[in-house]
Amino acid sequence: MKFSQKLLLWTTIIIALTLGFSGYYFVNYVFETSLAREVEQALDENSILRFAFETAALNVPVKYDMLQDGSVEQIASNLEAGGQEGGRLLRICDEQRQTLYASDGFAADDVLLASAAENRYAYRVIASGGRYYIHTASSVNALGRGLFLETLRDVSQVFEERRTGFRVYRRLMLLMLLLGIMVMYFIASRLTKPIRLLMHATRRMASGDYSYRAEQVSEDELGLLTQDFNRMSEALERTIGQLEEEVQAREDFVGAFAHELKTPLTSIIGYADMLRSRKLDEEKSLLSANYIYTEGRRLETMSLRLLDIIVTKKEGAKLQRVPAAALFEYLRSMFLPNENMEFVFDYEPAYVRADGTLIQTVLVNLLDNACKASEAGSRVEIGGHCEPGGYRFSVTDHGIGIPAEEVSKITQAFYMVDKSRSRNRNGAGLGLALCTEILRLHDSRLEIASVQEEGTTVGFLLAIDGEEEAHEEE
Ligand code: ATP
Ligand code: MG
Repeated sequence: MKFSQKLLLWTTIIIALTLGFSGYYFVNYVFETSLAREVEQALDENSILRFAFETAALNVPVKYDMLQDGSVEQIASNLEAGGQEGGRLLRICDEQRQTLYASDGFAADDVLLASAAENRYAYRVIASGGRYYIHTASSVNALGRGLFLETLRDVSQVFEERRTGFRVYRRLMLLMLLLGIMVMYFIASRLTKPIRLLMHATRRMASGDYSYRAEQVSEDELGLLTQDFNRMSEALERTIGQLEEEVQAREDFVGAFAHELKTPLTSIIGYADMLRSRKLDEEKSLLSANYIYTEGRRLETMSLRLLDIIVTKKEGAKLQRVPAAALFEYLRSMFLPNENMEFVFDYEPAYVRADGTLIQTVLVNLLDNACKASEAGSRVEIGGHCEPGGYRFSVTDHGIGIPAEEVSKITQAFYMVDKSRSRNRNGAGLGLALCTEILRLHDSRLEIASVQEEGTTVGFLLAIDGEEEAHEEE
């Protein structure tokens, strides 16, 4: 059952119960009040008749010192005739509760009479022949007789009024209920509209439409729920987008990796096959073996680089306070044997927050790239300077440069601007991808500025570890 239908059902039940009970109580209250009034009047009437009887008895000529049954009948008949509209209904009984006189149609049992005592009025509401009466009884003392006087007062009208009251109220209740259901239906469907819209949005999302947002139609809790739901959908859409990008990047990586693996392997297999199937002269054999050796080395470099990337990603960086000078000195010692190039170091002393070993790897890669891009004997400048944003490392070469449209791509794994040139220089296309990964762990990134045929500057910023420096100065 729908929520709005439940709301409607329960409201209908509550309205019906409330109207039913209040109506029943009201009609019954009116009835009880009327009946109480009638009872009072019936008792008054009985009291008046009793008084009249006793007065009349005083006027009867006394024969035997006692009121005779005949006189009783006479007085009773006179009293009966004194009533309006066809007379009263009364009965007179003697001391043994035997009827002395009874009006025509006086249809009451002796239950009340049995309980009637001296100087006490008793009454009972009875039904007889489809009509309702108030049956009253009292004792009458007249001329040495202890008689009983009973009256019947027709109160069918009061009962009829109650019946009519219930009938009218039932109709009224039905009408009000119908009206109530109509109004509640309207209210329930309005109140549950946000829920319907949310349901629709949830289904759309479940079917893969993450960009769908639920319409907000109220400012209450349901409106807030819609807002939260939309916020959640936004976060979900973002996350799924990122995941999709990640999956795509991973697929691209695997594709490029397979491709990069295939080229050297094909050559190695080709040359090895040539060596084992044919007798080659010494020069060709040497050439083949050399080819197998260099391609093998390239594969080795590639696998080591890949391993580096995986390990870096997995282990993260242990950031420490590192003197920039130590990093530059390491570079100097590494590239000192390379006499083909001219290295110019220009750096300010400072302490940076870094994982020393990982940053050494970045610098070595940048310097390696600079050498590969330059002609023999050309100059490579290595710099380190303090800036408002941190400490800037930079490697500048005067080599072949990078076409503007390629700059953004060279940090992708296996991407090389000139594949044959890079391969000849034992490149695997993974160096900058590794650098990017390392710098990501340092909340930094590579900044590449290049002019083709003029040269390239690759730099990055690291946080200066000034706090401890200040501490040291103290
Ligand atoms: P690896 O570093 O894995 O041995 P690689 O040097 O080819 O191989 P990356 O360091 O990732 O790979 O560089 C990617 C490509 O970017 C290079 O192949 C080269 O084409 C280009 N490149 C990088 N640095 C420079 C530079 N300083 N000048 C010109 N081109 C560059
Ligand atoms: Mg490189």
